[in-house]
Amino acid sequence: MSDFLFGTAGVPITVENGDTISGIKEISVLGLDAMELEWVHGVRMKPEKCDEFREAGKTHRVSLSAHAPYYINLASLETEKIEASIGRIVKSAVLGERAGATDIVFHPAFLMKRERIEVEKLVFEAYADVIKRYENEGLSVSLRPELTGKESAYGNLEEVIKMSKEFPHTLPCIDWAHLHARTGGAWNSYNEWCTALEMIGDGIGEERGLRRMHIHLSGIEYTPKGERKHLPLKESDLKYRELLRALKQFGCGGRIICESPHAIMHEDALLIKRSYARVRISSRK
Ligand SMILES: [Zn+2]
Repeated sequence: MSDFLFGTAGVPITVENGDTISGIKEISVLGLDAMELEWVHGVRMKPEKCDEFREAGKTHRVSLSAHAPYYINLASLETEKIEASIGRIVKSAVLGERAGATDIVFHPAFLMKRERIEVEKLVFEAYADVIKRYENEGLSVSLRPELTGKESAYGNLEEVIKMSKEFPHTLPCIDWAHLHARTGGAWNSYNEWCTALEMIGDGIGEERGLRRMHIHLSGIEYTPKGERKHLPLKESDLKYRELLRALKQFGCGGRIICESPHAIMHEDALLIKRSYARVRISSRK
């Protein structure tokens, strides 16, 4: 038995019309276990549609998560945009939960040339509001601030750990390719991955931090400033096999969502699943 579920970010390319329900079915046909609903360009579907997603997930035993819109900036210079960002996260959570998603991923904020600490203060203020509204809605999904791909965005490893420590209902979405890219190529060895996992375990506890992980994984192209674009795993320098070994060594579990380019995403998700199954570890720590 695998400790992880494996899946794609959005409907696999093998579904010609890109329909979500066909996508959920296709995931199980492909031998995968999970799919992230990509609401990255807006959350526009009718709420009733979500009931169909939930039903399809149950029927095909596909575990669902959702990615909130990209247009979120909890530290915007304009109050209306902060307000709209809060609304987008809450709406994604409400509809995500209705669709049977257990985890809602979002990118917290952009620095816009400000100090990280100054931005963090704004993010925390706005995010406190997200939590308040989440609780008023009586939700139970996990909110997942994502480890972002560029230094110019809020959401480095320490920051997503800190958010998860400070706020309830919150756990990080660890995008390992982003971690590698935002540092211009660091974090790419077994020992470094182990250090990151120790930081997560120490920061938010092994149970919440390591046994219920939500992971994004892909190949990546980057500059000294961070992510340029996602790549197929085999065209990238990311040492994903060493990463998988570290995850297994630490007894991690949860979900690994592949975010390689669409044309190859399902194949890379299967590659990750197969590679993980083949990883051998020394006796667990
Ligand atoms: Zn993302």
